[in-house]
Parts: sequence; C-alpha cells; structure tokens
Amino acid sequence: MFTKILIANRGEIACRVAATARRMGIRTVAVYSEADAGAKHVAVCDEAVLIGPAPAKESYLRGDKIIEVALATGAQAIHPGYGFLSENAEFAEACEKAGLVFIGPPGSSMRAMGSKSAAKQLMEAARVPLVPGYHGENQDPEFLRDQADRIGYPVLLKASAGGGGKGMRVVERSEDFVAALASCKREAISSFGDDKVLVEKYLIRPRHIEIQVFADKLGNCVYLHERDCSVQRRHQKVLEEAPAPGMTQHRRADMGEAAVAAARAVGYVGAGTVEFIANQDGSFYFMEMNTRLQVEHPVTEMITGTDLVEWQLRVAAGQPLPKKQHELAIHGHAIEARIYAENPEKGFLPSIGTLRHMDTPTAVSFELGGTGGVEPAAVRIDSGVREGDAISPFYDPMIAKLIVWGADRTQALARLSQALSEFQIVGLATNIAFLKRLVEGEAFATADLDTGLIERHHASLFPASKAAPAGALALAAVALIEAEKQQSSGASRAAADPWGQAQGWRLNGDYRRLLSFSDEHAAGLEGGAYKVGVTYHPQGWELDIEGGKQPLTLLARAGAAYSIRLGEQSMHGNVRRDGELFHVFTNGEHHTLSYNDPMAHAGETEAAGGRLTAPMPGKVVAVMVEAGQEVKKGTPLVIMEAMKMEHTIAAPGDGLVEEVLYAVGDQVADGAPLLAFKAAA
Ligand code: ADP
Ligand code: ADP
Ligand code: MG
Repeated sequence: MFTKILIANRGEIACRVAATARRMGIRTVAVYSEADAGAKHVAVCDEAVLIGPAPAKESYLRGDKIIEVALATGAQAIHPGYGFLSENAEFAEACEKAGLVFIGPPGSSMRAMGSKSAAKQLMEAARVPLVPGYHGENQDPEFLRDQADRIGYPVLLKASAGGGGKGMRVVERSEDFVAALASCKREAISSFGDDKVLVEKYLIRPRHIEIQVFADKLGNCVYLHERDCSVQRRHQKVLEEAPAPGMTQHRRADMGEAAVAAARAVGYVGAGTVEFIANQDGSFYFMEMNTRLQVEHPVTEMITGTDLVEWQLRVAAGQPLPKKQHELAIHGHAIEARIYAENPEKGFLPSIGTLRHMDTPTAVSFELGGTGGVEPAAVRIDSGVREGDAISPFYDPMIAKLIVWGADRTQALARLSQALSEFQIVGLATNIAFLKRLVEGEAFATADLDTGLIERHHASLFPASKAAPAGALALAAVALIEAEKQQSSGASRAAADPWGQAQGWRLNGDYRRLLSFSDEHAAGLEGGAYKVGVTYHPQGWELDIEGGKQPLTLLARAGAAYSIRLGEQSMHGNVRRDGELFHVFTNGEHHTLSYNDPMAHAGETEAAGGRLTAPMPGKVVAVMVEAGQEVKKGTPLVIMEAMKMEHTIAAPGDGLVEEVLYAVGDQVADGAPLLAFKAAA
C-alpha cells in the first residue's frame, strides 16, 4: 500500500479522500490555488503546496505542476477526485510516465468513454442498449437536422465531449433545429474545446439510473448496485438515492451485468459509473460512462457498507477487490442532497459570497463501514468549506453533501427532512429551503420519480412568499433590542434595556417603538414592510403586529439562541445578524428579515438606471446586439457564462441599445454594467 498520496483536487472531495487516507495510515499532500490558501482541504492534509492562481486553468488543471509536486514531496500516487483532471487521459498517462500511480482507470479507458459518440459506438458493439439517435462523424447542420427529423421530435442535442449537464439542448421542432445546434456547439466549444454533437431521441418522463462498477487490475469486475439520480435541475443532479425505488432484483441484475459488460469492453480499472436513462416501464438505455468516482458515491457506500475511496486505493496498489459480487448485498436506504450556494427562485443562479455562519446538523461522525460492514451513520456530511470561507466564482458552488441512511426509504426521508431543517447558513443564498420542500413534497415522498419532477411540480416547489410569522418577527425584534443593549453604554443602556430592569425604568408610563422589517412578502404590504410595535410597560413588554397585541418575554438567551414567550406560546430560535439582515431560524424554517433602520439610508438614491448589469461574475460568450440597435422586450442581448452555466441577459422592455461595454471573451465582475440601454418612451 502507498504511504503517501497527492490529492489533485479541492473542496469536499479532497477532504473526503483525505479522511480515508488518514484512516488507512496514508499521508496526504494537498495542492491549492491562491484562492484556497485558507481552505479546508489544505488544513486536513498533512502537507500542502501552492500550485498557482485562482483560475482552475492556472492551478487545478496544471497537470505538469501537480506531477512535479507529487515527485518533489515523495507521493507515490495521485487521486484526481472528480471534475478537473479526473477524466483526462493525457494526465493519467503522464502520471504513469513519471512513475506515479494514477488512482483511476487507464488513459485508454477514459479515451474510449470520453467521447459520448465514440462510447456509444463501442456500446453498440458490446450489445448494450442505446437510445435511438445519431452519433456519427457527420456534423453538417442540414444532415443532422434530417437525422433529427428521422428520429422524431423532441430530440436532445448533446456535446459529445460534454459533462456536468452542460452542452445540451432539447429541440421540439424541425424549425428550431439549426438555431439550437449553433447554440449547443457554441457552448460545447467554449466548455469542452470540441464542438462535436450527437442527436438522441429525447425520452419523456425518463429516470436516470446509474450503476456503480468497480474493477481491479486482476480482471475482477463487480457492480455495487444502482443509484437513482432522477431528481435534477438543468440536467444536473439534486437528490440521489440508493437503491432505486421500484427496482426489481431481476432488472438490477440486468442493468448491473450491462454495466459490467460496458466496463469490460474498455478494459476498465477502478471506480466508474455507467449511467442509464430508463423509461417508466423499466426499459433502459446506456447514456454514458463516468470514468471516475462520482459525487453521489456516498449513497452506495452507505447501503453496501463499503468505503469506495479505500477500494480505489487498494485497487490502485494492485490488490484485488475487497468483495465479490455475491458478497455485495443492499442494506437499508440512503439519500444524498447536494447543498449548493445558489438561488432556486432565480433559476438556480449560483450565489457568490462568504459563509458568514454555518451550522450543520449533528452529523453522526464520518465513520465508514470499511470492509468490515459496520452499520452506516444515520447522517453524514461531506463538506469542503468551513464558516468564514468564500464561495468564489472560480469553482463549483457546492457547500456540502448531506447523506442520510435509514432502515428503509421512509426512515431515510424523515432523517433527511430533519437534517435539512438543522442546517443554518448565513451569508449567501442556498437551496436548503427548496430541498426541504422537494423531499417533503408528495412526488418525491411517494417516489413518483422522473427527470422532470422539479419542473412539473414548479408551483408547489416555488410557493408564493408567505408572511413572516409573528414568532419570527418577535425573535428578530428581541435580537435587535438585545444587540442595541450591548452596543449602548452608560445612561443610554438603561433606556434600551427593557429586560433587566423593566420595572420602573421609566417612571411616567409606557414607551413604544415601531420597528420595521421587510422581506419579499412584505413588499406587497401597505408601506412595504412589517410594522412591529414594541411597547415597554412598567410591568413588561408588549408586541403588536397588525393590531394584535401580545405580551412578550425573553426567557433565555445563549449566544444566538433565544427562547421567548409570546402571548401564551413559548418558542425557540436562532437569530444571526448579517448587517441589516436578521436571519431567523425557527420551527425548521429560515426567515430573512431586513431591518429598515431609520438612521441608515438617509440620502441614498436608487442605483443608476438604464444599465443592464452582470448577474454574477463570469465571461461574455456572445454579444447579440450592436450599439444603436432597436430591440424588443425579451431580445437576447448578451450571453454570459459562469459556473458551468450560460445566462442570457435580455432586453427588459422595448428600447434602444446605446452602448455595448464588453466583447466576447471578456471577464466581467459581478454587477458590472454590460450595456447602456434606453427604454422606449
Ligand atoms: P456526477 O459525479 O454526479 O455525475 P457532475 O457530472 O455534475 O457529477 O460533475 C461532477 C463534478 O465534476 C462537478 O461537481 C464539477 O465540479 C465537475 N465537473 C463536471 N463537469 C464539468 C465541466 N464541464 N466543467 C467543470 N467542472 C465539471
Ligand atoms: P452529462 O455528461 O452532462 O452528465 P448525460 O448524457 O449523462 O450528460 O445526461 C445528463 C442528463 O440529461 C441525464 O441525467 C438526463 O436527465 C438527461 N438526458 C440525457 N439524455 C437524455 C435523453 N435521451 N432523453 C431525456 N433526457 C436525457
Ligand atoms: Mg451524466
């Protein structure tokens, strides 16, 4: 076995690999970019070496530098994690050439599966079922459209070199084909440096079911059963679970054997995933093979009692697979939720910023079953960030993976919902509330799964904003007054301190303050805010919200945790303040209330109108208009790319483009004006 490995990755997966290495007594070397000097993965590894500036191209994708570091530090092997260099055949081969073990399949397997088109040709030969489509060399638009016409609409265009849900376009009609092809090719060339596409029949209500395979260097290959990853947004996984609901033993064996055949067809070694797209009737087709460890591997670890990173290390060191096919039973049910810094309400746009505060659910410690088959943890959290860390535009906006295990799906679901309500994150938008609605919604709870689940249940997953409950407003008010009390000193302290010396602090009767908080819902209220009246009586406090008056008492406080009594009701909550924002976590909900400080905004005016700004930091990939051009409302003006997604900036109304401020290829800062736009009168 190795005594030292280098981890050529960052974030969650680097930390996860380091945990297993540590358990196995293997030393670890981290590499990091300038943006990651204080990152968690640097802290958890035994050594760490700076390899370059923040952009991945200049750091985590610098295979040459990474190999140099491995040699200089005496590492014997390199674990690539996922993303970055993990599916790069040249890198795998360069490692071997330098005398280092690449922890993954040989370059030849990656090459065979790296192109979705070539992989489909191979699978065809291995008699693995394929989605009807065209995956040949001819890239002529007219020819491809004829193919699409023949296959029948809707069709799906896919970048052959694609990944991460990128470079895909659904085309509904022949008329739209050529434009969609151009857009798909543009994304393919900018993301993957290769604009080759394939055309597939777009299946209706399919499920994404994938098989974890593992092969050693001695010719053994097994499958560790399936994962259902149907719940997706923009073709990217949101929830993953194992086993797949409704899977029969018979179908599992069929899919497992097809996956093993696929792996054998390319001389596979190590951990890999064969992704299938399945119809509701259970029929399934090969989609692609991911020649690496998958983000969602923990659900498989939980139900099989294995540590897949340990398996990777053993296989890379030349040992046989720790288990044979018949020893791989399924025990219980596991679900993973990907916690992202993103804004589901705004089309899942990534949210950049600092994790000012992060409380995670009480994780039952990261103790894997290993090969011993111990009962898995009920709640596992794999995270690559800590409080105070930034989610930057340079890398994936994942904050953590939350993985739960239960004896059955019902128990796993209950644990997931409970754990989600224990997450408390302040500083950036997250998908936690959305995930909670998703896992508690009927479709997921009853396992009515397909890749369109989120879109189909849009109305219930994105409910209109609700009024903040009185309890949340009361908690915010209490936290505000407490904070003022701490800030004030001397004489003014007494005036602001209604808790301690409520009796007699003001001789001549009552004193009332009117606090104003707002959120999305409040925007629709009279005055655009919640008016929260707080009256200090000699005998105690009173809170009035919309005319209803109730006595209010602070029962206890410990840091950000408050217990109050409002009327007859006792309630608890955490209140975290981030500037003017009061984040109230109570009753499993997160309310963000903005305090309208009467002193704060005197003299400010609205931001300059007429400029369309970048929704996030990113690169301009297309400019669709010129200065002087008249446009209609909704006309695409500029297309930006950031964090694996394209964003179209469209005209907010009819009007005139006065000036275009950036060109294709330019890097743009968050909030930067992109063009000057004059709305038609
Ligand atoms: P999975 O392992 O579930 O199939 P994805 O396909 O979403 O996950 O990709 C796994 C990880 O690899 C992502 O979190 C991302 O960091 C990285 N990745 C995948 N494709 C790309 C891409 N085209 N560009 C950048 N990063 C990618
Ligand atoms: P990536 O490399 O980006 O992971 P995949 O080929 O694995 O690309 O497809 C990603 C997702 O797109 C699938 O999980 C599925 O939701 C959807 N998808 C892919 N092919 C089809 C298809 N033929 N019909 C319907 N949906 C599809
Ligand atoms: Mg895929």
